[in-house]
Amino acid sequence: MTISLPACSVDFMDTSLSPEEQDIANRITQLKEQLGDDLLILGHHYQRDSIVMHADFLGDSFMLSQKAAQSTAKYIVFCGVHFMAESADILTSDEQTVILPNMRAGCSMADMATFAEVDVAWKEILQQSGLSDPINRENPDAPAEQGESFLVPVTYMNSSADLKDFVGRHGGVVCTSSNAKGVLNWAFERAGEDGAVLFFPDQHLGRNTGTAMGIKADKMPTWIPNIGSMGEVKGSRIILWHGFCSVHTRFTVEQIEGFRQRYPAGYVVIHPESPIESVQVADANGSTQFIRNYVANLPSGSAVAIGTEINMVARLADEHPDKHIECLDPEICPCSTMYMIHPAYLMDVLERIVNGEKPNQIIVSKEIQEGSLLALNRMLSIPK
Ligand code: SF4
Repeated sequence: MTISLPACSVDFMDTSLSPEEQDIANRITQLKEQLGDDLLILGHHYQRDSIVMHADFLGDSFMLSQKAAQSTAKYIVFCGVHFMAESADILTSDEQTVILPNMRAGCSMADMATFAEVDVAWKEILQQSGLSDPINRENPDAPAEQGESFLVPVTYMNSSADLKDFVGRHGGVVCTSSNAKGVLNWAFERAGEDGAVLFFPDQHLGRNTGTAMGIKADKMPTWIPNIGSMGEVKGSRIILWHGFCSVHTRFTVEQIEGFRQRYPAGYVVIHPESPIESVQVADANGSTQFIRNYVANLPSGSAVAIGTEINMVARLADEHPDKHIECLDPEICPCSTMYMIHPAYLMDVLERIVNGEKPNQIIVSKEIQEGSLLALNRMLSIPK
C-alpha cells in the first residue's frame, strides 16, 4: 500500500500523535466521559484522524444530518463546516445546543451563492422561462398536474440556512451528493413535464447528476450572478448555479490517464463535485460514503486512484493495506476549511461545556427555521 503525499506544507497525516497531541487526545477522552450521553460528536469524512478518533459517528453530510435529527444529546459538537452545523441546529430541538469547534470553518462553495444573488436570479429566471413559482401552489408537495409548469429550487446541502429557507418556502428541497438523483426526480415531478429546476450552488454535482439522468448539455445552462445565463433558459431542464468546490475541481482527465498508464488494471473513483470530463472517464463516481463502499468492495491487490479530499483518501489507505490506494492529484491539499477543526479547539469547547458555557453555538434564527426545516425534511423523506 502506498499513498501519494501532497506537496502542501501542512502536516495532515497525523496518524501518530506527538506527546502534546496525545495530552490533548487524553483530555478530550476524559471530557467525553464526563459529559456522557449529554454529548454527541459528529465527524465528517474530511476531518483529520486526530478528530475522527473522538467522533461518535463518522459520515457524509447526509448521514450526519440524519444522526443529528435522531439524537437526544444535549450538546452536539459538529466537527465539519458551518453549513453542516446549521443543518444540525435546524433538525434538532430548542433544548439541544449545536456547537462548531472553530467558527471560521466555512465552505468556499457555499459562499458562492448568497441569498441576495439567488433572489435576483430566481425572479429573472421566472421571467425568462415563463414558469410559475411553486410558492403560490396550495400543496407544493404534490406532483404537478397535467399542463402545469413550475420552477423548483434545489439546493445542495453546502449552502447557508437562509437559502435552505428560500428553497423550502418556494416548494423546493435540499440534496446531498448521495441522494441527488432521487431529489432531482422528486423535483421534476413537482416541476411538471415542461418545468425546470434551479440547482445551486454546485454546478458540477447538478451537471453530473443531470447527465446521468439523460439530460442533454444544452438543457442545462449555467447561471452566473450579475451576468445571467450561459445558454437558453426557456425550455431548459436544469439551470445550474456557477459554484464549485476548489478541492474537487482539481481532478483532471490527464491525472486519470496518468494513473491508468501506471496501473492499466487499476480503478478510478471520483466525487461528483468534480468536472464532468473527469467523471465521465472515471470507473465510478459517488458521495464519500459511496467511495468508501466502492474501495472496500474491490478485490484484494487492486490499485485505485481516488478523486476526493486527502484526509479521507489517507484514511482509506490505512484501512485497506491489501490495496494500492492513491489520491488522483498528488499535489492536492486537504480542504482548508475542514482542516480548521483542530483537536485543541475540540478540547476547548468541551472544557467550556463542562464549565456550563455554550461556546461557539450555531443558532439558526426562528424566521428562517421553518422553510429550512421543510426543505430538509423533504430531503430526508425521499428514498435514495
Ligand atoms: S471539500 Fe469543497 S465542498 Fe467540501 S467543505 Fe471543502 S470546500 Fe466545501
